[in-house]
Amino acid sequence: QDVTLPAEDLATESNEERAGLDKIRLEARLRDALDTKTLEVRYQPIFDIVEGRVRGYEALVRWQLPDRGAVSPAEFIKLAEETSLIVPVGEYVLDRVIEVLVALREAGVLPLPSIAVNLSARQLVEPGMARQIVQRVERAQLPPGTLKLEVTESRMLDYAPVAAVMQHCRAQGIPFALDDFGTGYSNLTHLHKLDFEFVKVDQEFARHMFDSQRAMAIVEAIVAMAHGIEASVVVEGVETHEQLERLRAMGVRYAQGYLIGQAAPVADVVSGAAARGPE
Ligand code: C2E
Ligand code: CA
Ligand code: CA
Ligand code: CA
Repeated sequence: QDVTLPAEDLATESNEERAGLDKIRLEARLRDALDTKTLEVRYQPIFDIVEGRVRGYEALVRWQLPDRGAVSPAEFIKLAEETSLIVPVGEYVLDRVIEVLVALREAGVLPLPSIAVNLSARQLVEPGMARQIVQRVERAQLPPGTLKLEVTESRMLDYAPVAAVMQHCRAQGIPFALDDFGTGYSNLTHLHKLDFEFVKVDQEFARHMFDSQRAMAIVEAIVAMAHGIEASVVVEGVETHEQLERLRAMGVRYAQGYLIGQAAPVADVVSGAAARGPE
């Protein structure tokens, strides 16, 4: 039986259509942000607990729109992944990071800090991506370990191609961290199937360490396991001295979080202002 729709329903976009249009508009603006280099990369310090100083940074991309404010990377990285834009976004971040490292070297900073770049497994296996990464590192003649890659992925694709790319990059002195370990799809199978130099413990765990003996026991178990496979541990989301001291006692090597510093503009990295530790 035919139902006549009210005129207003015909005239307005359905929610799906609107979401689709928003996506297309946002995609066009992201393309524009890449062209005009208005995506910003910020650097969050990573503290070496043993040496008691900042030894590296994580590059975190930021996108400010005049009418929308900050678009969270969680949103636009996902959008970029659904389109081909993830490749130029990845290259853009890499280019900025390598520029910073070259500038630091030219300023005589020794040893160079390491900078970690986030890549989804999707990005990593994108044809030509690994070659681009290795070429950039070679061209800039960066010492091994200076550029690191953090693999962030909701669900791993096939392990074989990821493993092959990782092996290729590792042979060129690029180490890997498994990001957000312990939550979502960042799990034991990844650690079993792939070789990571670093395990980043999701901030969820640091946040709840002192809430319950259970959370503490889980952190301790993750640390013991990471050490068992000879990976270094980075705990994310460290916000208090109490957390830092407890992690130190557990033998955790690296801490990252607001206690050490938030993601800072590149100028702070170059001037050394972003390298101060806690206090
Ligand atoms: P992530 O890799 O887990 O990055 C850490 C996030 O936690 C960052 O949020 C950071 O600002 C935040 N954070 C750091 N320390 C603390 C703390 O002590 N307390 C609290 N409450 N939060 C803290 P952000 O910058 O919004 O990044 C969100 C996610 O976007 C990142 O999660 C990463 O997965 C993704 N992302 C960022 N930049 C890139 C990129 O260049 N490429 C790709 N593929 N993904 C990126
Ligand atoms: Ca990360
Ligand atoms: Ca993380
Ligand atoms: Ca995350």
